[in-house]
Amino acid sequence: MFELSEEHRMLQELVQKFVERELMPLEKAVLEREASTGKGGLSDAEEEALLAKCKELGLWGLDVPEEWGGANLPAVAIMAIQEEVARCCFPFTFPPDSPNLHMLTAVATPEQKRKYLEPYARGEAQSCIAISEPGAGGDPSGMISRAVKDGDDWIINGRKIWVSRVPQSDFIILMVRVGEGKRHEGVTAFIVERGTKGFIIEREIKMIGGARTYELVFDDMRISDSQRLGEVGKGFAPMQLRLTVRRLQMGAWCLGMTRRAMEMMTEHVKQRVTFGARLADRQAIQWWVADTATKMHACRLMVMDAAAKADAGKDVRTEASMIKVFATEMAQEAIDHAMQSFGAMGMTKELPLQMMMNKVRTMRIYEGPSEVHRMTIARRIIGKN
Ligand SMILES: Cc1cc2nc3c(=O)[nH]c(=O)nc-3n(C[C@H](O)[C@H](O)[C@H](O)COP(=O)(O)OP(=O)(O)OC[C@H]3O[C@@H](n4cnc5c(N)ncnc54)[C@H](O)[C@@H]3O)c2cc1C
Repeated sequence: MFELSEEHRMLQELVQKFVERELMPLEKAVLEREASTGKGGLSDAEEEALLAKCKELGLWGLDVPEEWGGANLPAVAIMAIQEEVARCCFPFTFPPDSPNLHMLTAVATPEQKRKYLEPYARGEAQSCIAISEPGAGGDPSGMISRAVKDGDDWIINGRKIWVSRVPQSDFIILMVRVGEGKRHEGVTAFIVERGTKGFIIEREIKMIGGARTYELVFDDMRISDSQRLGEVGKGFAPMQLRLTVRRLQMGAWCLGMTRRAMEMMTEHVKQRVTFGARLADRQAIQWWVADTATKMHACRLMVMDAAAKADAGKDVRTEASMIKVFATEMAQEAIDHAMQSFGAMGMTKELPLQMMMNKVRTMRIYEGPSEVHRMTIARRIIGKN
C-alpha cells in the first residue's frame, strides 16, 4: 500500500485549498477569454497575483535542492501536488518548472548554476527547451541544427519548432549536433539567453486549446563555450532525464484532469433524468464510472511507484513511457465520457471539459507520441528477453 508521509499529506491539503480558493475561481475568466480571443491561460496580472500568494504560502521551489533555497521534496510528494493542481483546466506551475531544473542541476557548471540555476530556482527566471525540428520531432536523434567551434566560441545554425513558453523565457536550453555523428552522437546542449544576436523567434503557432508554440531560427548565432551545458556530444542523457521528469509529472496531471472529469460527470448524472430514469442508473454510464475509477487507481499506483523508484535513484525511463501512454489515454477517454454525459452542454466552451480535452490531446504528442513510447517499451522488453 502506498501512503504519503504526514508532512507530505499536509502539504497536499494546503495545495488542495490553494486550488479551490485561488485557481478554481479564475476558471470562468480563462474560459471566456479562450472562447473570445482563442488565447488560453492566465493573464499576466492573474499570474502575478497567484505567484505572490504561492510565495506567501511557501509553495515555491518545492523540488529545488536545499543548497539553492528549496524544499527538496521527493518526487512522490511532487506527484501528489501535481495531481491536485491539474484539477483546474488551465496550466499552472509552482515555480520553477521541474524538468529544466533537474537538467541544470545534473549538468550545469558552478558558474552556470550561479548565473542560471539560482535565479531559476528562486522563480525569478524562466526557461524552455528547444529539441524538435521540422524534420525531427518524435525521433529527435534526426536533428540537423548544428554548432561549429570557432576559437573559444560556437557558431550555431539551424531551426527549431513547436517550442513552448518562448516569449516568457529568459534563456532556452538548445539541443544541437556537433560534428558529423549519427543518431545520438554529437548531440550537445547550450544555454542561449533571450536577445542573443542570431536567435530569431520566426513565428508563433496557434495550437488547439488556446496554447501557443514557436518556431525559432538560429542564424550564425555566436555564443561562448561557457554557454555549453554539459559535455560535447553528451547531451542526450541529461535531455532524457529531463523528459522522464516531465513524463511522470504528466501522469499526475492526467490523474488530476480525470478526477475533475469524474467529479463533474458523477454530479451531473445523479441529477439528469432521461426516459424516466437518472443517467446514474443506466449501465452504460455506470460502466464509464467504474472503468475510469479502475484506471485512475492503476494510474496512481504507476505514478507513485515510478516516483518512489526515481527517489531511490533508479532508472524509470520504461515506467515513464508506460505512464505517459496510459495516463494520457485514460484522461482522454474519461474526459470524452464526461463530455458525452453532459450532451450538448458538454460541447460548449462554457465547461472546462473541452479545454481539458484539448490539453490532453496535445499531451499525446508532446514529450513523445504514444506510438513512439509503445515502440520504446516493446523494444526494451523484447531486447531484454
Ligand atoms: C503542445 C506542444 C508543445 C510542444 N512543446 C515542445 C517544446 O517545448 N520543445 C520541443 O522541442 N518540442 C515541443 N513539442 C514538439 C513535440 O515534442 C513533437 O511534436 C513530438 O515529439 C512529435 O514530433 P513530430 O511532431 O515531428 O511528429 P513525428 O515524429 O513526425 O510523428 C508523427 C506521428 O507519427 C507517428 N509515429 C512516429 N514515429 C512512430 C513510430 N516509431 N511508430 C509508430 N508511429 C510513429 C505518431 O503517431 C506520431 O504522432 C511540442 C508539441 C506540442 C504539440
